[in-house]
Amino acid sequence: MKDLIIKLTEISSPSGSEEKIRGLIRNSIEKYVDDIKIDNMGNLIAIKKGNSKGKTIMFDAHMDEIGIIINHIDKNGFLRFSPIGGFFPIHAITHRIQFQNGVIGVIGEELRKDYSKVTPLDKLYIDIGAGGKKEAEKYVGIGDVGNYFAKTIVTGNRIIAKSLDDRIGCYIMIEAIKRIKKTNNTLYFVFTVQEEVGIRGARPAAFSINPDVAIAIDVTDTGDTPESSKMEVKLDGGAAIKIMDSGMLTNRKIREKLISLSKKNKIPYQLEILERGTTDAFGIQITAGGIPTGAISIPSRYIHSCSEMVSINDVNACIDLTVAFGKEYND
Ligand SMILES: [Zn+2]
Repeated sequence: MKDLIIKLTEISSPSGSEEKIRGLIRNSIEKYVDDIKIDNMGNLIAIKKGNSKGKTIMFDAHMDEIGIIINHIDKNGFLRFSPIGGFFPIHAITHRIQFQNGVIGVIGEELRKDYSKVTPLDKLYIDIGAGGKKEAEKYVGIGDVGNYFAKTIVTGNRIIAKSLDDRIGCYIMIEAIKRIKKTNNTLYFVFTVQEEVGIRGARPAAFSINPDVAIAIDVTDTGDTPESSKMEVKLDGGAAIKIMDSGMLTNRKIREKLISLSKKNKIPYQLEILERGTTDAFGIQITAGGIPTGAISIPSRYIHSCSEMVSINDVNACIDLTVAFGKEYND
């Protein structure tokens, strides 16, 4: 468990540059599935074939992570950048950024005049240690993408890492693929691209598969830290079964099935209402003629920072629930 989670989270693959993570996932699952392909968007689609008695189920987790893209290099060699997805300045200053070629820089900020305010992204820069523009251009260029550089820590019952959003969802699908040996259902495990920039990979994948039902697996916020928002979800509370977020109301039948499967299989679960944010499930639900869609969420603190935190107990509950749904869904 530990080694694979470390590999999945430390790899560098922001939205639109998913090649590295896709290669790693493909190698981890190839021998456990009947078919595997990459579609025109870059989504990795793995299939376990069922039989005529079963349903077609699409499971989804996104492979991409938030990051930055260089848009300007100044005469002194400092890099200016645009965000890829929800890259927030409050988490960024003095953290390290790794580019696809391995070059690492530090995020600095212009002189802050008012310390009660967070410096906006356009007042931040990346310092790769170059002495001037010419030297910087030996290492990076306009359009190069980067993401947080951070070591993954697995300690006690907690995992701390960058990009647990949504590599932990990818891990849950990889484990489910390994554990589900035989079922009537035909299972599509879709590792999507470009979720963080607007759910762009999941929609065409869901359109072409057009499954009977779909489940997205992604992180959600928690309400269990000091003075946090009023939210019932907490670390160690079990798999979070989504009722609503800012993009969707989950299909009632799917949600009730997830609850009844949790009870039947004694899987710890909690109910999720997320006021800000959504997942691939939102895009899948309104694709094609509309697809009955639910979501299994992994409670996570500090989302979109270099130190996202989840509970190993919750991760295991999410794997158990994914396996149960894949094997037992038959409505
Ligand atoms: Zn996510």
